Amino acid sequence: MCVYDKKSLKAEEFINDEEIKATLKYADENKDNTELIDKIIEKAKLRKGLDHREASVLLACENEDRLKEIYALAEQIKKDFYGDRIVMFAPLYLSNYCVNGCVYCPYHAKNKHICRKKLTQEEVKNEVIALQDMGHKRLAIESGEDPVNNPIEYILDCIKTIYSIKHKNGAIRRVNVNIAATTVENYRRLKEAGIGTYILFQETYNKESYELLHPTGPKHNYAYHTEAMDRAMQGGIDDVGIGVLFGLELYRYELAGILMHAEHLEAVHGVGPHTISVPRIKRADDIDPDTFDNGIDDETFAKIVAIIRIAVPYTGMIISTRESKSVREKVLRLGVSQISGGSRTSVGGYVEPEPEQDNSAQFDVSDQRSLDEVVKWLMELGYIPSFCTACYREGRTGDRFMTLCKNGQIQNCCHPNALMTLKEYLMDYADEDTKAVGDKLIEQELEKIPNEKVRKIAAEHIADIAENNKRDFRF
Ligand code: SF4
Ligand code: SF4
Repeated sequence: MCVYDKKSLKAEEFINDEEIKATLKYADENKDNTELIDKIIEKAKLRKGLDHREASVLLACENEDRLKEIYALAEQIKKDFYGDRIVMFAPLYLSNYCVNGCVYCPYHAKNKHICRKKLTQEEVKNEVIALQDMGHKRLAIESGEDPVNNPIEYILDCIKTIYSIKHKNGAIRRVNVNIAATTVENYRRLKEAGIGTYILFQETYNKESYELLHPTGPKHNYAYHTEAMDRAMQGGIDDVGIGVLFGLELYRYELAGILMHAEHLEAVHGVGPHTISVPRIKRADDIDPDTFDNGIDDETFAKIVAIIRIAVPYTGMIISTRESKSVREKVLRLGVSQISGGSRTSVGGYVEPEPEQDNSAQFDVSDQRSLDEVVKWLMELGYIPSFCTACYREGRTGDRFMTLCKNGQIQNCCHPNALMTLKEYLMDYADEDTKAVGDKLIEQELEKIPNEKVRKIAAEHIADIAENNKRDFRF
């Protein structure tokens, strides 16, 4: 039997099944223990986070008054740490060749009728130009696992191509990478290529289910997959993004697992995950989400987001266009800090949408709006869409967001950066209505920069962007 040890480098010790089961039992036993729940909520108010046991008790709690308190606290923490900023990004699918057998993904190797595609460097260039023309500055590249079709050299070539393209005023300033678990050496090469965050979803932390859901291919190896973030960090990548695919296993098991993973990274490497993603399983070619028994409703989904927010206040939270407009609106308030907009989940989908019979998409997109529509919608809800990539470009990686928070510099750093990058977007890509809404918002928000000197410089830079076609200012 493996013993729980968050500092261990062995998957089954830092994500320990016995510990998760004991946690769920403890949560069940205490779900009506209002004294304990109040204590946990008080601790969460200190904004230093919660451990997996504490968070699991809150997740099990069904007391309406306490839940209201939890939601209100999540909203407040979101506001204090992230203000009204929402970081924008887009996925870019490079190749859907894959040797794995994941039963929930249409790219699994046995799917013989899906259209397989792999972008050439010329096609990557065209996709990037299309993304730049929408206004994107931050991409997450996605690829299936296939050592023959998509070796690491191919991924590295694509990253090089993406960073090299400067179309009109466009530029991709940060490339996050979502590819299969790999070796320390390959992570080192990705780091050298200048990637932002390395993202890898665990899918499920339950080993038994994991092995059933990944019956064939290299991804079948639970330990190799679960220990990937440690290898990434050994390879020099200090921004890693974790996530589970909600719907595969019991959500309570997954929440405990994901928080244990965060605790492990913090304990071993001194830096927790940069982001946590919360995708839910969706319909796709040959995948029917109803065949999975653990689907979660919108209410439960919102509860999970709120609890992650208060458990790991410094970690960015991401949702994709898998979620509908109304669900996105709800979880933005409760804790999500990054969203994608105008996404295409097929290979080559930005240059031309695919005809039905050539479907190469990984999942059906629920939020079909364009980036401009999403930007305008966010601003009308009172958010500031941000295209900021400043920390990455200034070499502030790892725990720099925490450092900015601790030094109280968010309003003097993230906030003006958001306004300047939004102004770039409005000048180069927005339609007239969006521009009018955005310009008014920028004017109001500039006043909220506390440091007078920073406020003045930000206003000058914004004028320079508008009047002198200058770009890429940052604090
Ligand atoms: S989830 Fe990833 S590894 Fe699994 S089949 Fe899909 S693309 Fe391949
Ligand atoms: S300044 Fe850094 S932490 Fe703040 S929004 Fe920009 S990249 Fe993120």
